[in-house]
Amino acid sequence: MKALVYHGPGKKAWEERPMPKLEDEKDAIVKVLKTTICGTDLHIMKGDVPEVTDGRVLGHEGVGVVEKTGKSVGNFKPGDRVLISCITSDGTCEFCKKGMYSHCVNGGWILGHTIDGTQAEYVRIPYADTSLYAIPEGLNEDAFVMLSDIFPTAFECGVLNGRIKPGDTVAIVGAGPVGLASLLTAKFYSPSRIMMIDVDEGRLAVARELGATDVVNSAEGPAIEKVMELTGERGVDVAIEAVGSPVTFGICEAIVAAGGHIANIGVFGQSVDLHMERLWSHNITLTTRLVDTVTTPMLLKSVESGTLHPERLVTHHFALSDIMDAYETFSNARKEKALKVVLENR
Ligand SMILES: [Zn+2]
Ligand SMILES: [Zn+2]
Repeated sequence: MKALVYHGPGKKAWEERPMPKLEDEKDAIVKVLKTTICGTDLHIMKGDVPEVTDGRVLGHEGVGVVEKTGKSVGNFKPGDRVLISCITSDGTCEFCKKGMYSHCVNGGWILGHTIDGTQAEYVRIPYADTSLYAIPEGLNEDAFVMLSDIFPTAFECGVLNGRIKPGDTVAIVGAGPVGLASLLTAKFYSPSRIMMIDVDEGRLAVARELGATDVVNSAEGPAIEKVMELTGERGVDVAIEAVGSPVTFGICEAIVAAGGHIANIGVFGQSVDLHMERLWSHNITLTTRLVDTVTTPMLLKSVESGTLHPERLVTHHFALSDIMDAYETFSNARKEKALKVVLENR
């Protein structure tokens, strides 16, 4: 079979690899139908994720068809269509029993990280019963690919941790795919205003189409003053950080209203200033989280019922065999006006 293989910082190849085999009785082998590229894959390509070693097949998102199952797999059989969760869970450890699959002692984020991933024609999925989700036929599979990672990430780390309530004023800092997924899932709770903050006018235009009530281009002037002006100097009830930089975190700290929440989603590579001189008396809550994918079943139902349309974030389609071109497009997201790319194993 063919797969996208990492060969150290800046080096990757679409090349022949042995077919994955069942290694444990709880494993399943899945034929990948559709997959995508994540911002995390670009971090890996830069060498920012040193646990990923030469020879690793990348990718942690996708939908497919079960090809083979180990003898302890009870929920799935060959031929079943499945959503592959970016988080693998054994379902039995202390953290899984708390619903914190991200910290599963035998799983967590391992696909395309410490074991071979989904940017391949076939993938081995450990603990298949608790790491795969059945998907219905006849719906747009692009939508389900978005549920492997970005939608549960946006919803759990941003919307749920931010405790958005009806009538709230929400600001989302960063209008990339995860920020936009936060916008779409924030609407479940009917906030009165959702402001998007970004430096890219193209992405802010998409945010407006997807329902942002206000957009702030932080390249054109100080975002903090603009948000404070828009809120009558009150600030926002919920500030969602969807970038992962000291500047964007600083915006969230400055715009959060008394009693508000800062919900972090961004991946940070450096420390930030925590402005306790302002926040000590401000009754705020700051949350951090790695996606657990515990809301995947709920998000699946929202897609099935037509309430949620994650496929609206898909801007480009490629054949899986053209994945090198897809990486090029996704790496130049701003120029290419790319949000999510879907790769199809035709
Ligand atoms: Zn991802
Ligand atoms: Zn576990």
